Amino acid sequence: MSSILEETKFIMKKYNIRASKRLGQNFLIDENVVETIVDCSNINEEDLVIEIGPGLGTLTSKLVEKAGKVICIELDSKMITILKDRFLLYKNFEVINDDVLKVDLKSLIKEEKANGKIKKAKIVANLPYYITTPIIMKLLEEELDLESITIMIQKEVADRLVAIPGDKNTGAITYTVYYYASSEKILEVPNTSFIPEPEVTSEVIKLNIRKEPVVKTQNKEKLFKIIKCAFMQKRKTLVNSLYNAKILQDKKQGIEILKKLNIDENVRPEELTIEQFENISKNL
Ligand code: SAM
Repeated sequence: MSSILEETKFIMKKYNIRASKRLGQNFLIDENVVETIVDCSNINEEDLVIEIGPGLGTLTSKLVEKAGKVICIELDSKMITILKDRFLLYKNFEVINDDVLKVDLKSLIKEEKANGKIKKAKIVANLPYYITTPIIMKLLEEELDLESITIMIQKEVADRLVAIPGDKNTGAITYTVYYYASSEKILEVPNTSFIPEPEVTSEVIKLNIRKEPVVKTQNKEKLFKIIKCAFMQKRKTLVNSLYNAKILQDKKQGIEILKKLNIDENVRPEELTIEQFENISKNL
């Protein structure tokens, strides 16, 4: 039996923990996966690490050894008791008992950076799968002062996040991720690496936040509204989707814009690059 598995079982028994399905609790028990996540995050003593959903503290125990400071955000108050006991002696450990979607991460990072020792902020997490997308959108759209985001999520979602716009397997979120970050696949993780086992295969990915967005936009809100509306109806052409979402007054207007930009009038949203979406946005 792996030592992490033994440790996890011991902690769960000691604190009488039953994993909550509702809170997406699948605890990591694979030493190699833990090492890989921590290694590829490149953490040093000048880093603030924000860990979302630390659970029993498996990843946390490695993070506190490397980072200048670790701030954990955990919704389940039972986990808070465990984490406070487990990391009592670590001066660089702090835990916030809240829903990560409600936490003001911008102010948190600003305050930590203001005290001098912290130079960079990084997110590390084995995310609760039921809110993967809202968490990622929050981390990116709030334009936090982050260096990188290393997360374990469902493989199916991971593949969409790391796809390049214009390739297959894209969705509106592909464009958001690409706009703010360059992304890399790190490791595929089987469901046997967790207890309880999730129904899906997982994947660790890393998003390296760009210093400058990949495309200069005239109006970012408008660009992403158009992208979201374009992907709202699967398998429809761009013109049909934008017309149905009332972005276009009539289909003729859309066809004329596409003609002007040398794009086929029957183009589907997933065939477009982010630059092409920006050109369409400018013409609307
Ligand atoms: N990091 C641990 C590990 O790798 O073993 C646990 C990961 S588990 C997949 C997800 C964790 O996120 C759980 O501990 C769960 O309680 C917590 N969680 C669920 N919803 C949350 C939310 N909205 N905000 C913060 N934490 C949340």
